[in-house]
Amino acid sequence: MKIHIIRAGAVGLCSAWYLRQAGFDVTVIHKDDLSNGCSYGNAGMIVPSHFMPMAAPGVIAQGIRWMFNSKSPFYIKPRLNLELLQWLWQFYRSCTKENVQNAMPILRDFNNLSKELYHNFAQTEGFDFDFEARGLLMLCKNPKTLHEEAEVAEKAHELGLGAKVLNASEVQELESGIKLDVEGGVFYPGDAHCYSNKFMSQLKTALYHNSVNLLSQKMVTGFETANGKINKIIVNNNEKLDVDHIIIAAGSWSAKVLKTLGVRLLMQDGKGYSITLNNPEIKPLYPTILLEARVAITPMGNDLRIGGTLEISNLSPKINQARLTGILESVPKYYPELHPEMPQLNKVWHGFRPCTPDGLPYIGRSERFSNLTYATGHAMMGMSLGPATGKLISEILQNQKPSVDIKLFKPERF
Ligand SMILES: Cc1cc2nc3c(=O)[nH]c(=O)nc-3n(C[C@H](O)[C@H](O)[C@H](O)COP(=O)(O)OP(=O)(O)OC[C@H]3O[C@@H](n4cnc5c(N)ncnc54)[C@H](O)[C@@H]3O)c2cc1C
Repeated sequence: MKIHIIRAGAVGLCSAWYLRQAGFDVTVIHKDDLSNGCSYGNAGMIVPSHFMPMAAPGVIAQGIRWMFNSKSPFYIKPRLNLELLQWLWQFYRSCTKENVQNAMPILRDFNNLSKELYHNFAQTEGFDFDFEARGLLMLCKNPKTLHEEAEVAEKAHELGLGAKVLNASEVQELESGIKLDVEGGVFYPGDAHCYSNKFMSQLKTALYHNSVNLLSQKMVTGFETANGKINKIIVNNNEKLDVDHIIIAAGSWSAKVLKTLGVRLLMQDGKGYSITLNNPEIKPLYPTILLEARVAITPMGNDLRIGGTLEISNLSPKINQARLTGILESVPKYYPELHPEMPQLNKVWHGFRPCTPDGLPYIGRSERFSNLTYATGHAMMGMSLGPATGKLISEILQNQKPSVDIKLFKPERF
């Protein structure tokens, strides 16, 4: 069977990898040269510790407070748009204890599976992407945040995950790479990280050598359908490709692509920024989240990546300098010796996290089209969950029992 995957982020390329391994004839269709998208400049964290979905009680009140601070880590560009309003309504409805309770064990299993699969990639010839299973630190400046994170650590224990609450001197003893100024932190030993750009480019090369057809400079502009089946993909407005089965893995652009099929998908882009310091003199040993600032810091090989902010921006590529300043100014508050300079704006990477209203991805077969499967909407965890999603997609297409329960990921749930 011929499978066409629309777009080539971590989710699309990992799906291509596992589908090819299962013997499918795979083509990846991409609009440019396969070197951009959210999967490249992200913080590279592989996170079993992130078992809480984005939609959780208390998130809305915090989000509203952040909206009034130009340097805060969250912003929604106000606009009168039906899709945004529908998304916000469903987000509001999803911020419940029940959503969190149901999602936690599934996100734990999903991320754990992905970590294992990253480990397998790291041992595969042709892959050397600075994968390290060293754990992750959450650093807290104030006692209230530390208390809240300690409660999360308690939940982690209930789920069988490792989590250690540390006071200021314990956390400094662990993080011997750099001086800290914090109240304390929580260490999650089960997390890992990698150099995302390296993983992506090595995966592309491996796919090429494994006879996956990588079509670049092809923009999907439409479809031909009949009787609940997609027969052709139209690219660049006039070229038609015959298809047996389609995987939609277009990240934040998935809703736009599906609109041309007459399908509504609730998705908003969570724009974020990162800068990468090459060979800095000092850097932390551990990938870390500066909790109050919501900034991620990852040592990647010899480099250090600093990223943050979530702006619902309607796919605007504009770099918001105030928010970037907010990210950079937060760093020395936690690491007094580290003062990242404001880079030229063209050196700042931005990516759009594909955010669903309930913080859970869309994975599974379409109910509307018999030969369409979804693999999108991973928000802040698409890098982490890329390999496990690829594995699930190959299992779904082979009609096997998925390794992780996908009930909550039903694509047409809103
Ligand atoms: C600052 C930041 C830090 C992050 N850190 C982490 C992390 O540590 N761990 C983690 O798990 N996740 C992290 N994420 C989230 C993660 O990067 C995403 O969830 C993931 O990359 C989504 O992958 P994807 O394959 O679904 O989409 P994408 O990688 O966005 O792929 C979609 C495809 O669409 C293509 N495309 C690009 N531009 C256009 C366009 N104009 N029109 C149409 N198509 C286009 C892209 O090239 C790409 O091939 C972070 C995100 C940001 C912004």
